[in-house]
Amino acid sequence: MIETTDYNIDDFEGRIVSPEYSNIDVDNEVTLRPKSLDEYVGQEKAKDNLRIYIKAALARKESLDHVLLYGPPGLGKTTLSTIIAKEMGVNLRITSGPAIEKQGDLVALLTNLNEGDVLFIDEIHRLSRNVEEILYPAMEDFSVDIIIGKGPSARSIRLDVPHFTLVGATTRSGQLTAPLRDRFGVLLRLELYTPDELAQIVVRSANILGIAIDYDGALEIASRSRGTPRIANRLLKRVRDIAQIEFDGAITVEVAKSALSRFEIDELGLDDFDRKMLTTIIHNYGGGPVGLDTLAAAVGEEAITIEDVYEPYLMQIGFLTRTARGRCVTKLAYEHLEIPYNDHNCCSSQQTITF
Ligand code: ADP
Repeated sequence: MIETTDYNIDDFEGRIVSPEYSNIDVDNEVTLRPKSLDEYVGQEKAKDNLRIYIKAALARKESLDHVLLYGPPGLGKTTLSTIIAKEMGVNLRITSGPAIEKQGDLVALLTNLNEGDVLFIDEIHRLSRNVEEILYPAMEDFSVDIIIGKGPSARSIRLDVPHFTLVGATTRSGQLTAPLRDRFGVLLRLELYTPDELAQIVVRSANILGIAIDYDGALEIASRSRGTPRIANRLLKRVRDIAQIEFDGAITVEVAKSALSRFEIDELGLDDFDRKMLTTIIHNYGGGPVGLDTLAAAVGEEAITIEDVYEPYLMQIGFLTRTARGRCVTKLAYEHLEIPYNDHNCCSSQQTITF
């Protein structure tokens, strides 16, 4: 008997293919999270580096150097921080940049850590400057300076904090200040996953959830998951519901195709918003180049969301390029959308910038 979910597609607040954390991911995130580097699929470069650093730190009986993880949402940054703590055999404290409002909040967090603990700060680029200043000596010398009293009688005292490992995660490494960035010994960039890696993640999750699936069914879900494990796990659960109600419960390629087309996610994982964005550039701006802010206003979305959430995947599949003068839609995207491509497209002579 397959366990059923108590949510409905209509309860979902947002886009089903958004890589950002949402209300329907609540139960996924704990049960499906890999618990060791060996269970963690893909990101081979980051994993190889981490294995060496963890082994070396354990051999020296020291805490691991501070680690900065960067890349789009849903790729496994939080998961990696839990694995780092586990592999180091220490506790993990999880917080986020916007949650630490005052210097005192961070001082309290740091002084309550145990020797060797991992402190994970998600969205670390959103820390306020004065809170960030507390982090500099904490990361470098394992001490914090606090001011006691007010006015002329105020004095600064230095408190020691335990040797800890800061794991910072960010979707925007460019927004980190240089002094903060320089204090990380290990910088790891997480990449979007290949369909084959995502299929392995789907099979693994299906096993944990007791869902019958064949590899082709998993690959079909994986190919529409925009390189992102969070989306793959979410789609798996949606497809499972349909497999159970309308088919015999098992997910095959036909079942996956039928379910996913119902969610209006095409075979490359594009949804209505992607299509709207691409066709707006094509119809209103001759295929581009169009500046980010202009595009954001035209499609009614925030520029930062377009940049962090929608664009990485569209660029990875070669549908969108960033040029010095703005965003351009490529010939590949025209073909996918079945819109005739004109060789005199404004973007054909633009030089692409890689970020
Ligand atoms: P981020 O912190 O980058 O937004 P998370 O670490 O919260 O992403 O990962 C989102 C979900 O995707 C997790 O629940 C986890 O189950 C799954 N996941 C992420 N990376 C992997 C991976 N490499 N292998 C298997 N599952 C993964």
